[in-house]
Amino acid sequence: MLAMDYRGPYRVRLEEKPMPRIEHPQDAIVRVTRSCICGSDLHLYHGMVPDTRVGSTFGHEFTGVVEELGPEVSNLQVGDHVLVPFNIACGQCHFCKQSLFGNCHEVNPHATAVGGIYGYSHTAGGYQGGQAEYVRVPYADVGPMVFPDWMDPDDAVLLTDVVPTGYQAAEMGGIQKGDTVVVFGAGPVGIMAARCAWLFGAGRVIVIDHFDYRLEFVKAYAPAEVYNFKELDDVVTFLKHTTDGLGADVVIDAVGGDAKGNALHTLFGNKLKLEAGSAIALHWAINSAKKGGIVSIVGVYGPTGNMVPIGNVLNKGLTIRANQASVARLLPRLIEHVRAGHIDPKALITHRVPLEDVADAYHIFAAKLDGCIKPVLVPGG
Ligand code: NAD
Ligand code: ZN
Repeated sequence: MLAMDYRGPYRVRLEEKPMPRIEHPQDAIVRVTRSCICGSDLHLYHGMVPDTRVGSTFGHEFTGVVEELGPEVSNLQVGDHVLVPFNIACGQCHFCKQSLFGNCHEVNPHATAVGGIYGYSHTAGGYQGGQAEYVRVPYADVGPMVFPDWMDPDDAVLLTDVVPTGYQAAEMGGIQKGDTVVVFGAGPVGIMAARCAWLFGAGRVIVIDHFDYRLEFVKAYAPAEVYNFKELDDVVTFLKHTTDGLGADVVIDAVGGDAKGNALHTLFGNKLKLEAGSAIALHWAINSAKKGGIVSIVGVYGPTGNMVPIGNVLNKGLTIRANQASVARLLPRLIEHVRAGHIDPKALITHRVPLEDVADAYHIFAAKLDGCIKPVLVPGG
């Protein structure tokens, strides 16, 4: 079968690889119909994520058709159209029982590690991803969901990650009615977080980025007040000023990255007093929050994310919440929001690319070319 293949930082290509097989009675084999590239894949692409091995296939946001089932999977049938949450979870462990599917202990027992994620390095369990014609889905009796007939498959594929992550970002912010919410990052995750902030009762939603085309999109889509940080003398001072000198009630970091990643690449030359290698959006998030406020982090950081201004967190009495989204926990309510028209996920898809052109798609999305917000790869498309 054809699959995306990682060759090293900034190098991916299409490769012929062996068909995945049922390896465990709870496995399924899924023929992929849509597979997105995520901002999280860019951290792999940039070489930020430890133990990302050459020869691996990325891709944790996919839909597909069930081709084959292990003997212990009774909730699915061959031919079902499924959306597959990016979290691989056993459904039975201490964490899964609390619906913390992003923190499953069975699939990745290291105390400091994330749970299992498709195509996300050996740090996240070493599973192969779905930017391929076929993928092995472990614990297929837990994660995959047959999506309703009325649902557009483009909506379904965004329910595997972007929608639940944006929603959980807003949820973790503990937004109270009338709160001012600042979102750093106008990528798919930040756009969705801004949209969902209203569902939790926000009174004002502000989004910060430096790509005007993305700011224009979120301005209309969320809707939100938008500011280009390159046009501001000092982001934190500006945000304080526009919130009566107090700061925002809730700040969401939907940026992530580190010295090799998106955040810093875009910032050299800007008026910053921070040292290269620090997590700038996270500094801004902490420093622009109101005293007693909440900072919700969904941006994924590499090792330099450790250089956060923790003293300011203490002095300001902030609450910090952060996690990988727990997709399966949120799906039932998010499907209702899509059905009711509160969220239009597919509007984020700007690029539909045949799997063959995977290298171009990575380049366009990483460099933010051609108005790209969210690219979806279509095997055989
Ligand atoms: P993306 O690359 O499309 O968007 C990131 C945006 O951040 C870009 O538009 C970029 O210009 C902007 N940005 C860079 N530096 C900034 C700064 N200092 N201030 C404000 N904006 C800045 O990525 P995405 O797909 O939207 O993902 C965003 C983040 O969310 C990534 O770190 C990704 O790994 C993470 N993520 C987390 C989860 C989770 O479950 N926690 C799930 C999906 C994605
Ligand atoms: Zn993702």
